[in-house]
Amino acid sequence: MFYRLRKFFHKHILRRKYLREGHCLGCGACCTHIYVKHMKGVVKTEDEFRKLRLLHPFYTYLEIVGEDETGLFFECTNLDKETKQCKIHAHRPGICRRYPQEEIFLLGGTLKEDCGYRFVPIDSFDEVFSKLKKKLK
Ligand code: SF4
Ligand code: SF4
Repeated sequence: MFYRLRKFFHKHILRRKYLREGHCLGCGACCTHIYVKHMKGVVKTEDEFRKLRLLHPFYTYLEIVGEDETGLFFECTNLDKETKQCKIHAHRPGICRRYPQEEIFLLGGTLKEDCGYRFVPIDSFDEVFSKLKKKLK
């Protein structure tokens, strides 16, 4: 019953396509390879990032650790590298509290390989297929 209500809420109220399942294993991997997206897309230059830092305190926690075809990637300075724990866990920003959300797929992102979360489609393949068949009749 709870599952069906949850599914209804996510599909019809939040307009989601996936349900998030699982839980955080505290590996810290998602805090060490972060892309930053803003209005113009993923941040690609230090100059862009410098301007962005003025807009939200979260960005001040980040430092550039590399660059690839997507853009710059960052590591959060609040991550304790030994314990893999967030040093400001109780006061971590909303973006960290809500992570991961299905929007990461829209940004071209993926979950880390060993992440304890997974996303499952709200409508199974069979449900989508049977709806499509009905429409085509
Ligand atoms: S504030 Fe904490 S949870 Fe958020 S990215 Fe940094 S280390 Fe990770
Ligand atoms: S990658 Fe997944 S399991 Fe690891 S800290 Fe991030 S949310 Fe938790």
